[in-house]
Amino acid sequence: MEKEKIRCLIIGSGPAGLTAAIYAGRANLCPVLYEGIQPGGQLTTTTDVENFPGYPDGVTGTGLMDDLKRQAARFGADIRTGIATAADLSGAPYTITIDGEKRVEADSLIIATGATAKYLGLPDEQKYAGMGVSACATCDGFFYRKKVVAVVGGGDTACEDALYLSSLASEVYMIVRKPFLRASKVMQERVSHRENIHILFEHQALGLYGENGVEGVHLAKRLGEPDEEKLSLAIDGFFLAIGHTPNSTIFKAWIDTDPTGYIKTIPGTPRTKLPGVFAAGDVADPHYRQAVTAAGTGCMAAIEAERYLSETNKAGSVG
Ligand code: NDP
Repeated sequence: MEKEKIRCLIIGSGPAGLTAAIYAGRANLCPVLYEGIQPGGQLTTTTDVENFPGYPDGVTGTGLMDDLKRQAARFGADIRTGIATAADLSGAPYTITIDGEKRVEADSLIIATGATAKYLGLPDEQKYAGMGVSACATCDGFFYRKKVVAVVGGGDTACEDALYLSSLASEVYMIVRKPFLRASKVMQERVSHRENIHILFEHQALGLYGENGVEGVHLAKRLGEPDEEKLSLAIDGFFLAIGHTPNSTIFKAWIDTDPTGYIKTIPGTPRTKLPGVFAAGDVADPHYRQAVTAAGTGCMAAIEAERYLSETNKAGSVG
């Protein structure tokens, strides 16, 4: 198997990975970044990004990621296509297998593999992607001002999304499959007190309809029960909030994760329990999951990597 030794390896090409690459490049760490399954990360699946600082007129998700990539390349980051398929973090240097065929040995490792929003698996979710279906209320909610939207899910994210959307949209329907919300009490109270949030308990989405975008959702109440009812609800936007899956599988044997799989870091830092291994962005963030927070932790991870390499005499001269 082909082998390579590098000082700073970054896995993932969302805002966290690319920001880490900018900082690590400027610190002369000669970072190598592997883009992963979805080059550019989750933002490449959204349309306009209006909440990333520095873009007063907004920017497309792909435009923002292209800018970050060019900026990282400008400082010497070696950005490569490839997927990390295995990890051996039993000791430094840490070994990552790329595409099952190349072993990279890294003195420091920044894990920025992100998280993947869960979808219901309905064919219509693909059909209406970017045309009324979204898995990010904070990213896309603004486009539904004074419109009617539905949020699928009954957890804290769904409640948070419903509350956020309720200040923009005219009506928000929560589609909850159980007869109760899984969310924390405080969130349950907040959604139940908001006049324009309507909770549809024991409902499940079966499909979407609309000519040039989402115009409604087909629902079943008490699906599979003797008193099952089918109904349709006119909506303009369909938001998924049924959880995210952090992309941490190959690292779980070596570092701590929470029950969902989010990498645990030392609070307030991107440090994992392994020296020289850092986690940034959504893979380590069950709470904020914003491009700007991911970029922030990517920056922190690169600064930590530079300090770690200096302390272990593996850093280059900082320019
Ligand atoms: P959760 O796993 O807590 O909730 C997912 C919700 O989606 C549940 O209501 C679940 O239903 C529903 N769901 C899952 N799959 C389907 C499906 N196929 N069809 C219909 N409904 C489905 O995920 P969250 O993202 O809400 O939260 C993740 C973690 O992050 C939690 O620990 C949460 O507390 C935390 N969090 C905290 C926040 C805060 O403190 N402010 C904000 C956001 C998240 P069911 O209940 O039936 O399984």
